[in-house]
Amino acid sequence: MFKKIPLHTQIIGGLILGLIVGLVIIQFGLSPEFTINFIKPIGTIFINALKMIAVPLVFASLVIGVANLGDISKLSRIGGKTIFAYLITTVIAITIGLILVNVIKPGDSLPQETRDNLMSLYDDAVGTKKDMAAEVTSQGPLQPLIEIVPENIIKAAGDNGSMLQVVFFAIIVGIALLQIPKGKAKNFTDFFDAFNDVIIKIVEYIMLIAPYGVFALMASLIVEIAGENPDSAVELLLALLKYTLVVLGGLILVIVAIYSLILKSFTKIKFIDFFKAMRPAMLLGFSTSSSSATLPVTMKLVEDELGVSEEVSSFVLPLGATINMNGTSLYQAVAAVFIAQALGMDLTISQQLTIVLTATLAAIGSAGVPGAGLIMLIIVLEAIGVPGAGVALIIAPDRILDMFRTVVNITGDATVCVAVASTEGELPDGLIRQSNPFTADVQPQQEI
Ligand code: ASP
Repeated sequence: MFKKIPLHTQIIGGLILGLIVGLVIIQFGLSPEFTINFIKPIGTIFINALKMIAVPLVFASLVIGVANLGDISKLSRIGGKTIFAYLITTVIAITIGLILVNVIKPGDSLPQETRDNLMSLYDDAVGTKKDMAAEVTSQGPLQPLIEIVPENIIKAAGDNGSMLQVVFFAIIVGIALLQIPKGKAKNFTDFFDAFNDVIIKIVEYIMLIAPYGVFALMASLIVEIAGENPDSAVELLLALLKYTLVVLGGLILVIVAIYSLILKSFTKIKFIDFFKAMRPAMLLGFSTSSSSATLPVTMKLVEDELGVSEEVSSFVLPLGATINMNGTSLYQAVAAVFIAQALGMDLTISQQLTIVLTATLAAIGSAGVPGAGLIMLIIVLEAIGVPGAGVALIIAPDRILDMFRTVVNITGDATVCVAVASTEGELPDGLIRQSNPFTADVQPQQEI
């Protein structure tokens, strides 16, 4: 219907329209039943579709990600360094996110009444959470480790809450694929390659209904939250604004502090030169919200502009586009704690540590396509006993945050790539190649 309007504009339109409709309904005292019975279900369908795709998405993209390493021995040097750098930067990003969200507490400003309203919205899930909490206290200290290994993979795949087990199984499958004869492995890898594409296509379909889903979620959220007191809707929006600013602040910090430090420590490239060279990729990442779509440009830029060899870039960057998502992991940590704060749930230190672990794995498992980080957030939430349906709270600004976090994801991949190349003896002078800017012929691969 709105073919000419880019999807992200449609989503922002849906968001604003939902907000206005919600506010009009409560302001003019119109019956909220219509919203609950006829608008909210569209939002529920959208969230269900996102949940539906989570298990296959994680499985396919992880199997392919590991299998793309080529062979196990290659893992030892370049692979070892790369994966170590990816993990460290991911954990640092999550830690920055956790510190910011715990200090600023964007979800804490909600009045008790709004909180109670939110809680009753997700009541069933919260009931389960309490049971889960009781269960956890009666378990031994190694229980989280035990739970990573599924006793039945089909059962694990049937429950979004057991995603860690699916992640574990997918990694094992990927490693095993690398160790069986290449001829035999090829059939399997080809199948999963195609399967991965099919899943990403389905994510594209789901994103097509995103404007309507976002509209419905926003309108019904406002109506339900307002209850008897319309002011609480405004308070919720303010909290959401604070949350958005915390995520953006964290993302900027990662680029300005962490990436510049890595460049300074491992290369002779000046941060500003790096930034200028990578600008086209960052812009493309921003407009497509897809690390995968931006990958060819990222590769071309690090090779042509920064002087990284093709050998290093073609190994480090595709792997990074699949498993290294610093922006996404920071956002997931902030969002998980924000939702818990908004629901009035206090997170213990061990729950926060679980966030570090699950957000790392969730970011690894997120495909480099729009909206993937949001789907994986459900896993982080369920792992810490916060109702997964709580994503409804932060879904509204998500498309915009997706654009910013994708920029960080891409920049992180390029930073690690340049650092690895430098430790391999490449780019000794740290000089930027003065090649022509080629932004003109850069086309986004997919806009979903
Ligand atoms: N859109 C992000 C990317 O492609 C993933 C996400 O956080 O949704 O890097």
